[in-house]
Amino acid sequence: MKTSFAVEKTLGKLAKWLRILGFDTIYDPDIKNPVESGRIMLSRTKCIEYKTDRLIFIKSDKPFKQLKEVIKALGIVNEEIKPFTRCIVCNTKIRAVDKNSIRSIVPDYVWENQDSFRACNKCKKIYWHGSHAKRSMEVIKQLFES
Ligand SMILES: [Zn+2]
Repeated sequence: MKTSFAVEKTLGKLAKWLRILGFDTIYDPDIKNPVESGRIMLSRTKCIEYKTDRLIFIKSDKPFKQLKEVIKALGIVNEEIKPFTRCIVCNTKIRAVDKNSIRSIVPDYVWENQDSFRACNKCKKIYWHGSHAKRSMEVIKQLFES
């Protein structure tokens, strides 16, 4: 995916959701110049120090509506997103891992009931399609309904 974001500190939940959708998203960036980084800046503060035309001003204070604002502003379609491919903690792309290699890491009931696992190489977080992922998929579906 080409689109990447730099998300202001006040928009933590939005940043998390953008990562769930698979977008390269840095949160609370200390970069002074998002233009050079090529990222689209998302902000909801009025006094903006960043000099960029690649800035989306977020109006809503609800994460779901914020996400809709971004999707609408950039014309992102369902086919462009890659849900559950990126670590929501550290923004690294996650990879499929062998179930047996994580036997001692995940809870027993999870290991017994799930067959596919993905892991973040950087922060070591393990992901699987539990109830939380199902709820997230429902939210994603609603995002692209007009
Ligand atoms: Zn990670």
